[in-house]
Amino acid sequence: MNFFEELPKIELHAHLNGSLSNRTLQELRKLKYGTNENGSPEDSGFYRIDHGHSMDLRSCFQKFKYAHDLTDQPDLLAYATQAVIEDFANDQVIYLELRTSPKANQGMSKHDYLLTVLQTIRKVKDTIPSITVKLLPSIDRSKGIAEANETIDLVLSLHQTFSDIIVGVDLSGPPYGTKFSDFVPVLKRAKEKDLKMALHCGEFEDDGEVREMFEFGTDRIGHGTFIEGDTLKFAKEHRIPFECCLTSNVKCATVGSYREHHFKKLWDAGHEVCICTDDFGVFDTTLSRELAICSETFELSQEEIFGLQVRAIEYAFASENERSRLMNVLNRFKNDRMPC
Ligand SMILES: [Zn+2]
Repeated sequence: MNFFEELPKIELHAHLNGSLSNRTLQELRKLKYGTNENGSPEDSGFYRIDHGHSMDLRSCFQKFKYAHDLTDQPDLLAYATQAVIEDFANDQVIYLELRTSPKANQGMSKHDYLLTVLQTIRKVKDTIPSITVKLLPSIDRSKGIAEANETIDLVLSLHQTFSDIIVGVDLSGPPYGTKFSDFVPVLKRAKEKDLKMALHCGEFEDDGEVREMFEFGTDRIGHGTFIEGDTLKFAKEHRIPFECCLTSNVKCATVGSYREHHFKKLWDAGHEVCICTDDFGVFDTTLSRELAICSETFELSQEEIFGLQVRAIEYAFASENERSRLMNVLNRFKNDRMPC
């Protein structure tokens, strides 16, 4: 293993459905459809992806469709959740915040969806003790306000039993035709219960919306690609961390190349920043690889990459005890592997 693979890592921005590896998708397909080659309606496309052919963006997003189809029953969803956590743990991720929007379908209500994910996370606490996992239930903007309220109702009811796991709320999904201000009352309900806010923010050029999000108060910024000028200054003054997802942004073409990624600008100007995967399954990457790309592209030393993990602990929605456990793991690694 190289330095980046061995380094204990912190992942703060990962969507459950986008984090299903090809192997997990393949296993899920077998579980749902058996070995019947004609079972899945998406067969031909699935095999194209499975065989590791290079993908365009459309094919990437096709993977989300498989993921939804293959996790529409509690046993499949539990399998998927566990597999994602195992993959992160095998990449030496010691702290993970997963995001997912509860989905209702024939096999499962939204309540069952969220409960299944939470129960799996709780179970994994004993079976994979090297990793601490939290959940940020997602509000999908494209689904509208009524559904957002329904999601928050569920989140608040389950929070009573799972307050150690549900630590915040994510706002994501295509923003087209939606207004952030419409979501403020529903997000406020979560905030009043001390849930942290991880908003996808500044993914598109809309400075007005970024202002509204800052006014409302976000604890971290998802991507923040197009934040400029006064709002950028505000983020720095208030030390709001940016979650930078290099490969995701390059593959989705919101940035032109790794070199042009806004991480560079943020890093150079001393912003709070961390590196995350977003959807490692869809974009065929790992957190180790993202850190290696970051180090190579922007010439960060191993010491600086280590420092990014220390910062990420600070930004995590974890308890003080959990933070000190994470710091101990990092310090042990430093003593063993990074002699000065
Ligand atoms: Zn995201």
